[in-house]
Amino acid sequence: MAKVFTKNDNAFICKACGKQVPPLGYSSRNHCPFCLASLHVDVNPGDRACECMGIMYPIAVTPHSKQGYIITHKCSACGKVGNNRCAADDDVGLLIKYTNPFNIPKR
Ligand SMILES: [Zn+2]
Ligand SMILES: [Zn+2]
Repeated sequence: MAKVFTKNDNAFICKACGKQVPPLGYSSRNHCPFCLASLHVDVNPGDRACECMGIMYPIAVTPHSKQGYIITHKCSACGKVGNNRCAADDDVGLLIKYTNPFNIPKR
């Protein structure tokens, strides 16, 4: 049986803001902690099986009682929408700011 969630925690350069993003350590990092953008590389979380590689920008942030914040990303290339948990070192000020959709920059 294929594992749906593959741990894939490497440092990378964010394609959206250009900052160096260190490995998360406890889980697979799936978005940039500085600008919250993600890359469309997964079919299932962490599998890196998608060849789209479009930048996924946050379009909504929803507070969650158990998981902190849920970030909704939309792929700028193919339009796919997906939800991701926030990470421990995400920019909390940005997460809070983005809970108001009027604060999210239009791309
Ligand atoms: Zn970034
Ligand atoms: Zn895509």
